[in-house]
Amino acid sequence: MGGNNVHEHMELLKALQDLDHELNGIRQERRSLEQEQVELTGAMVRIQTMIDGLDEEIGTLQSQNDELEQGFAQEEANISRSEGRLPEIKTQKEYLAVLKEVDTAKKVAKDLQTALEEKQAQIDALIVEKDEKLKQLDELKERSAAREAEISAALKEFDKTLEKKASQRSKHFDPLPKQMQKRYALLMERRGGIAVVEAREGNCTGCNMHLPPQLFNSLFLDPQIQSCPHCNRLLFVLKAED
Ligand SMILES: [Zn+2]
Repeated sequence: MGGNNVHEHMELLKALQDLDHELNGIRQERRSLEQEQVELTGAMVRIQTMIDGLDEEIGTLQSQNDELEQGFAQEEANISRSEGRLPEIKTQKEYLAVLKEVDTAKKVAKDLQTALEEKQAQIDALIVEKDEKLKQLDELKERSAAREAEISAALKEFDKTLEKKASQRSKHFDPLPKQMQKRYALLMERRGGIAVVEAREGNCTGCNMHLPPQLFNSLFLDPQIQSCPHCNRLLFVLKAED
């Protein structure tokens, strides 16, 4: 492997790393947009769930209300039936008994009416709450639709860029010797996405450790691609000609 090749390989590795950083940045932005999509949908689902819950509660109260109304109608019928009998009654004893019946039925009817009013107030409050939630949902749907459109346009754009960058990446990655491709991939994975670093003033800028002087000096001669003995990252030096 001649010096020229080493130089070319190092240039490819540096450009490859820059591309990989760009690609990672784009993928991360893309993921956060997808996350935002999930959250928008989640927020709508949460409100819809609350609305469904309110509907169910209103339904239950409404059927309780219907029962109370039936009971109330029943009592009213009892009252008018008993009162209708009063003129035909012959004995004082029977008269008093019927009056007592009427009185009791009126009390029951009054209690039912109070219960009905309370039930209706509960229903009304829930309907107000439900209307508010429906309004919130409409607003959220409207905002989401606009944002949704922005996001899907951005995602498409990201995909195009990713495709373009991925093919640029291949142009830098594919010409490298297999062994170097493996080393690079492994270092990217194990060294926090930084595989290629500059050696400057006798130090590795990846781990900031001092390099053996002989190693540092050899970097200027291009005999082969060298690794930092501390962090294993691939080293390059900036020369006057760069
Ligand atoms: Zn190092």
